[in-house]
This record gives sequence, C-alpha cells and structure tokens, in this order.
Amino acid sequence: MTDFAKTRAAFRLPDGVIYLDGNSLGPLPVAAEARVARTISEEWGKELIRGWNTAGWMSWPRSIGDRIARLIGARAGSVVMGDTLSIKVFQALAAAAALVPERRVILSDSGNFPSDLYMAEGLVKALGRGYELKVVEPEAVEAAIDDEVAVLMLTQVDYRTGRLHDMASLTKKAHAAGVVTVWDLAHSAGALPVELERCDADFAVGCTYKYINGGPGAPAFIYVAPRLAAVAEPILSGWLGHEAPFAFDLNYRAGPGIERMRVGTPPIIALAALDAALDVWDGVEMSDVRRRSMELSELFIRQVEARCPSVTLASPRDAAKRGSQVSFRHPDGYAVMQALIDKGVIGDFRAPDCLRFGFTPLYIGEAEVLGAVAILEKILTDGSWDQPHYRKKAAVT
Ligand SMILES: *Cc1c(COP(=O)(O)O)cnc(C)c1O
Repeated sequence: MTDFAKTRAAFRLPDGVIYLDGNSLGPLPVAAEARVARTISEEWGKELIRGWNTAGWMSWPRSIGDRIARLIGARAGSVVMGDTLSIKVFQALAAAAALVPERRVILSDSGNFPSDLYMAEGLVKALGRGYELKVVEPEAVEAAIDDEVAVLMLTQVDYRTGRLHDMASLTKKAHAAGVVTVWDLAHSAGALPVELERCDADFAVGCTYKYINGGPGAPAFIYVAPRLAAVAEPILSGWLGHEAPFAFDLNYRAGPGIERMRVGTPPIIALAALDAALDVWDGVEMSDVRRRSMELSELFIRQVEARCPSVTLASPRDAAKRGSQVSFRHPDGYAVMQALIDKGVIGDFRAPDCLRFGFTPLYIGEAEVLGAVAILEKILTDGSWDQPHYRKKAAVT
C-alpha cells in the first residue's frame, strides 16, 4: 500500500494554495533542492568536465529512463531521456513511418495536443513523397484504422477533457492492420497504470514535468519496444546516438538499442532534479494512485454538480474512461479560473471554455477537493469572477 501521507510530505507546497495543476507542472519535490545544489556545487563545481565520468552524468539518460520504465509498464533498457516531448514525438513518428515504407498515412485525432499534430505536419512536409496526416474525431479513430495507415499516433489521455483511449484494443486493431503505433503518455505517465509491454505498444513518448514532477522543462522520454530497438531508424542522428560517439567518425552509425534515440548532450542539472522527483515514486504503486485519483475526481464531480449549476462536465462521467483530470465548461472559463487562482485554487484553462483540474493523490486529498469546491461555489454564486482584470489574458493560460 502506498503511503500518501509520506508522499505529501515529500513536496514543498505554499501555504494557502490548493494545487490542482500537477497535470501541467508538478510541484517541487523537497529533495530536488538539495540534489540540484549538490550537482551544481559538488559535481559541476568541483569535478568540472570530469563529472561526465566521475559523477556518471553520461549514463543518466539511461539510468533515469529505467526509473521511468517502471512507471509505464516497460522493462529496463527500453527508455531513454532527452530533449523535449515535441522532439521525441518527431523522432518516434519518423522511426515508426520508416518501418512501413509502402504506406503514406499518419492517423491521429482532433483531441491530440496541437504540438504533436504540428510535429507530424512538419515531418510530412520534410518527408514529401505523398505522406499525409489524417486527423479524425477521437471516437472515429478505431474505424479509421485500415491498411492505408502507416502510423497511428495518439495521446492516450486527452489534455483538454481527460478522455482516455483504450491502448490495448487500439494497438491490437492497429497491429492487425499492419499499422505501427506511437503513444504519447504526457497525461498518463505518473497518472495511471500504463502497460506498454502488455499492450505490445511499438513507440511511446512523454514528458516528465507534469505528473512526474521533474520541474519546468524537465527532459522528455522515448520508449521503443525491445523487438524494434535494433531496427528503428533515428531521424535525428546526433552524435550521442552514434555507436561510438568518442570515435568521432565522419559518418553516422546508429548506436545499440535505445541508445540511438539519444541526440545531443543531456541536460544534467534538469536530470538531477528529475532523479530526485523519481525518489518520491519509490514505494508508490500506480494502482493505488489510480484508485485514489478516481475517488478524488468522483468526489469533485459530485460536489461541483450539486453546488455549481453554471458549469457543465466536459470530461467523461465514467472514471474508467478518464485520466486523472476533470474539466468543466463555463462560457467565461478563463475569467473564472483567474478568480479561482486569485483565491488560492490553482487549476488552469484550456480554450475555448475548459476549466481544468488535476487530481494527483501524491499530494492532494479530500480536504483539498472540498476546499476547492467551496471556493468555486462562492465565486460563481457571488459573481466575483466577473471583473475586467480576470478577463485579461496572460501569455500562458
Ligand atoms: C504537454 C504536452 C506536450 C508539450 O510538449 P513539449 O515539447 O514538452 O513542450 C506535447 N504533447 C502533449 C500530448 C502534451 O500533453
């Protein structure tokens, strides 16, 4: 059993704040402060360039990848860290398309995060040769899988509504049609049990600054199924994915297995913060996280629907069909969210009208859920959200 009192104590959360936005940026793990300070002063400061060997920096993308693997149902040696999620989407997509060279369609859905679609557009343009990106409604994905499709690229949990795709059945259907799958786990890694191996997924990518709490801009990860790792072609053929980076050969030869998905020099200070964040996950069972997050989100939905009639549920009602976030629609959602944040309840807003709330049991309990509902009810009832300064859009929503 996971000790959620212990995980709660592992985070530094400001007093007076109810933090329901761990789905966008996880909070600061207490241990990350000392860990980053040590990497800076002891490793960088004293070891200088020697740190790549003496502190083991060069192997961190792999060793930290192994820690992520445990959270996503993958085996050690199948995940590597680096770059941003958008870059990892591009890499995975290119490698997947190259495995089915006679087909030209990349299939995705309109619930996908725009960056994934933009990266696919960019890849289609760069590849030329008749490649196309086909985007269908989330409910139409299954029916659109056919033998024209090269790659099925989906984000498992919809960033806006929390709707959850069935990874096992869609991957099975894709494979039966000869389609290679790329799963984006941005809103699933650290939010619910992911079973990449059991689902026989081909490629997966994800970020670590959301539910995994690695810090703003923390490095992304890429997973390649072990059966494909030696044949997947790295489109971004950087020197650290080379078979022998320090031979400084003039020509690229892909490195062994997952190593080939590395590109350039890893961000060591950011990886140190992420490694400390992963310490919190030791002893955490993802099934406990899922059960608790379902309870908390059910409680939130029940309470909001009973007390706040001016908002409507945008997320699937069935908890089994949702990730770990709940969204409600309100025509003035942006202003309502700014008023909420002003009163210490931090969620976020996704255009055009979604108020989004993340339930992360590592540091959120029933008291926070009930506290957030009470404040939401108050500002909706007294109309205090309806002020010009709450309507002024900031750069990041
Ligand atoms: C958060 C998120 C991203 C962000 O990509 P970055 O390159 O890390 O900025 C991309 N895709 C999905 C599905 C996301 O949820």
